[in-house]
Amino acid sequence: MKAHQILTLLIISLVPAAVLVLNPALPPYENNREVYNIITNAPYVLFLLVAFFGLRLNQSRIFFSALLLATGYASLKEPYFILYFTTTKSLAAEVLSITVPLSLALLFISGEGKKLGKRGLLQLAIVICPIGLMHFGMKYGNHIPEEILKWSFMPTFEPFYLPQSSLIAAGAFLLAAIIPGDLSIRAFIWAIVFSLIPLFVNLNHLAGSSSLSPWNLIHTSFSHLAISALLLYCLYLLYWQKIYIDDLTGIHNRRAFNEALRSVGGKYSIAMADIDHFKDFNDTYGHAAGDDVLRFVAQFLSTNSGAEVYRYGGEEFTIIFRRQYGEDLYRFMESLCGEIANKAFHLRSPASARKKSSKKGRGKKKGESQTVNVTLSVGLAGSSSKLKSPKDVINAADNALYEAKETGRNRVVTA
Ligand code: GH3
Ligand code: MG
Ligand code: MG
Repeated sequence: MKAHQILTLLIISLVPAAVLVLNPALPPYENNREVYNIITNAPYVLFLLVAFFGLRLNQSRIFFSALLLATGYASLKEPYFILYFTTTKSLAAEVLSITVPLSLALLFISGEGKKLGKRGLLQLAIVICPIGLMHFGMKYGNHIPEEILKWSFMPTFEPFYLPQSSLIAAGAFLLAAIIPGDLSIRAFIWAIVFSLIPLFVNLNHLAGSSSLSPWNLIHTSFSHLAISALLLYCLYLLYWQKIYIDDLTGIHNRRAFNEALRSVGGKYSIAMADIDHFKDFNDTYGHAAGDDVLRFVAQFLSTNSGAEVYRYGGEEFTIIFRRQYGEDLYRFMESLCGEIANKAFHLRSPASARKKSSKKGRGKKKGESQTVNVTLSVGLAGSSSKLKSPKDVINAADNALYEAKETGRNRVVTA
């Protein structure tokens, strides 16, 4: 996640709190029923969208989180839910402040599985159970839920009106979401963590006010709109990642490269880098180690080239230098190749690596951990009066790369 993405999440999540502080005057409910209806039903539509796109991404946790939050919203908004399950809206808010984070925590612990498999059913139960049990307990006179609501571990403080056990539930959720470090849905984890801010602000407001005013209803809708906006933003990021990010290396892919070419202009250069004898490396150490090398080279080039690096395909990478060219760039690329060739790459699990001796003799045993060296051949070409279009520049860089391979590898050749 980039800083501006986290800032966007933070801003969206703080809107309901800002609305509460500003406390704007609302138009009378009687004359504006239509508008109120649209605003209060909009969160359902957005949660539905989140659930749909979550399913399309094969992310049952996103799907069920949207379902859970929509159910939570319904039990605050719909009179039927309030009257059936709890006596007042503030009690519903108190219950939800514990059960929603707990359900989310359980959802995250349950991991990812087949949509309609056993895990899907388990996740459905997780979504329904905590809210169901809590309401059931309160309705049929079991006093445990009330004790949970009243239980405290520190002095009460204003303006915090929610049960203190909700803080424990929120803490449990944060641990469950952050500790596993599931990188594939990092954007979702950020979004759902930020969702706790508008959720708690709203629930706390409801718990602290006894009336069922239209203002409370609007604030509830507003908060859930903010939550669904956070989730939709994370879905946008996840889709963007699917389209433009290479799954294996985490850098931009060929599609991103093709689109970046549309915006190049003036004096620019393109480098095509290809790992030397990579097939031998795979044959010697296995494809898993080969994948590690691809990640290593991608990260090395991204960190050290100071330019946009793309995985062109297989073990080939392209770099777009928007303002660098000529002799300076050639020398820079040479030093970069020298640097990576001298950098020892530690094989992750040498014990499981195939124990054939390296054909090129580039593997080296160093105590228990085995290190290897990776070399690159690079073809470099810059835009010029002869190489006008990006396609011409790429072809020239490709030919230069071919020459670098022909003339011994581990070198840079300029077109
Ligand atoms: P050269 O020095 O001429 O470039 O030789 P090379 O062996 O690197 O080139 P070649 O084109 O013969 O082989 C490329 C190899 O890259 C073959 C393929 O198995 C491997 N490769 C392509 N994509 C991946 C990948 O995603 N993971 C792994 N582990 N290997 C890959
Ligand atoms: Mg190749
Ligand atoms: Mg190669």
